[in-house]
Amino acid sequence: MTQQEIFALLHYVGAVTTNTHAVYTSGKHGSMYVNKDALYPHTKETSALCRLIAEHFANRDIDVVVGPALGGIIPAQWIAYHLSEIKGNEVLCVYAEKAQDGFVIKRGYDKFIPGKNILVFEDNLTTGGSIKKVIEVVRQLGGNVIGLGAFCNRGNIQPADIGGIPELFSLVNITMDAWDPEDCPLCKQGVPINTSVGKGREFLEARR
Ligand SMILES: [Zn+2]
Repeated sequence: MTQQEIFALLHYVGAVTTNTHAVYTSGKHGSMYVNKDALYPHTKETSALCRLIAEHFANRDIDVVVGPALGGIIPAQWIAYHLSEIKGNEVLCVYAEKAQDGFVIKRGYDKFIPGKNILVFEDNLTTGGSIKKVIEVVRQLGGNVIGLGAFCNRGNIQPADIGGIPELFSLVNITMDAWDPEDCPLCKQGVPINTSVGKGREFLEARR
């Protein structure tokens, strides 16, 4: 799949909306909106994207895929499934869940980590803060993080930003313009605000 085909797929399921006038959670405005949750009801498309990540890492020695709850669980499962198919041996999948100060791997899944080669997954990289904590917990348990797969790198995150992992592979890299409302060129042009994504509706209500 080319980058264009990946974008077309993300657009089709509503995970990426372009040429719009969106209000982000931060209050800033922009012309693009990413809603990763829109992908997962579509299992065929989710599987297809995860296949690309599995193919990228297929020549690496991987025992377990780890994704953070909630957003990372479904794709981590698909990636482990495709890796198992491609490599002909079982690649496991477990998830890390939020704890008071970071993440924890429990439910008996922690026993799959020590001494194993781990591929970590994050659907959407913005600051990299969460996945860095997942990487830390894997390392604390004695796992060897061989790389990170992602659908979307929005923050130009580099391996050094998240604990110096050997490799970071993202299907798409996006840089999104974000303007304060008073500087927003779309507001100046009178482009209607999209009220079906982000905080558009709240923004218009507050302005009334
Ligand atoms: Zn605007």
